[in-house]
Amino acid sequence: MDKIIELSGDIWQVDTEERGIPGWTAAYFIKDEASSGWMLIETGPASSSGKLLEAAATIGISPAEVKHIGVTHIHVDHAGGLGLISRHFNEAEIWVHPRGERHLADPTRLIEGSRAVYGAEKLQEYGEVLPVAAARLRRAVEGTIIRLGERPIVVWETPGHARHHVCFYDRKTKGLFSGDTAGVYTPRLSKLLNQPITRPATPGPDFDGALMMQDLYRLVFSEVQNLYFTHFGAAAPAQLLLELVIGQLSVHMHMAKDYGEEEDAVHKLGLALQEEIKKGLHSGMAEKNMEDTVTNEMKLLLEPLFDSADGLLSYLKKSETS
Ligand SMILES: [Zn+2]
Repeated sequence: MDKIIELSGDIWQVDTEERGIPGWTAAYFIKDEASSGWMLIETGPASSSGKLLEAAATIGISPAEVKHIGVTHIHVDHAGGLGLISRHFNEAEIWVHPRGERHLADPTRLIEGSRAVYGAEKLQEYGEVLPVAAARLRRAVEGTIIRLGERPIVVWETPGHARHHVCFYDRKTKGLFSGDTAGVYTPRLSKLLNQPITRPATPGPDFDGALMMQDLYRLVFSEVQNLYFTHFGAAAPAQLLLELVIGQLSVHMHMAKDYGEEEDAVHKLGLALQEEIKKGLHSGMAEKNMEDTVTNEMKLLLEPLFDSADGLLSYLKKSETS
């Protein structure tokens, strides 16, 4: 897949090649034609900063033209590079949900939390998370309108994946930068199998099943037509993709109940979720000649399901005790 894709409506999709893997994590540059201002949504991890800045130069974006940077949430695969990138685009206002603010200004706890999820060795692959200048942080809350020249970008709070998660809505393209709310989409695999292949993203410790269901129903009944997935790429029609993810989330939440009481539940549920997703790929996968990019997408689809299992089970526990 191309590293930079010019989408319609003055949006550029950039592959940040997260930890050296193409096709996992995207960032997007949006242009306001009238003012020649730009907004960047997501930065990818710190170790991707070089790729992202290279892409900006290739597109022809000068640092002073970047007026806004928005991150859907503070997880390191989405915002780990923000400290570094914001030093380069040093005039941009930085938009994040208030619950994420202090962890960007002082990333100590963000780093500790990420280490707990990924382990020390894997966390290193994401690069060093640098602090963001607190004076540049702006609050992205429900209904906030980010004025990118004459192109309004609207903030929708979507706390199901994590309480500091928001989506950014672009009226011009009826497109939503969905972060992790609409799950994960695999463009190459979907093309190969001639059907959209998705999965919900439900990692611990913050995932809330009821809230994510609400988020998804809100999106499905909205005017959104295009989805700009961080993992990975632009896709349409939004309704169909969202309905798919709603169905998958329902199934995954029911499956979690089956494993809740078992020993080694995370591992067992993780394996069961993998089998469930593979069922959706239908037969014939093995005979298809898979390029590397498709193999990468299979990994994106399947490997993080143990984290998702952990999130589903801890949500179940929380909702039973509350
Ligand atoms: Zn996330």
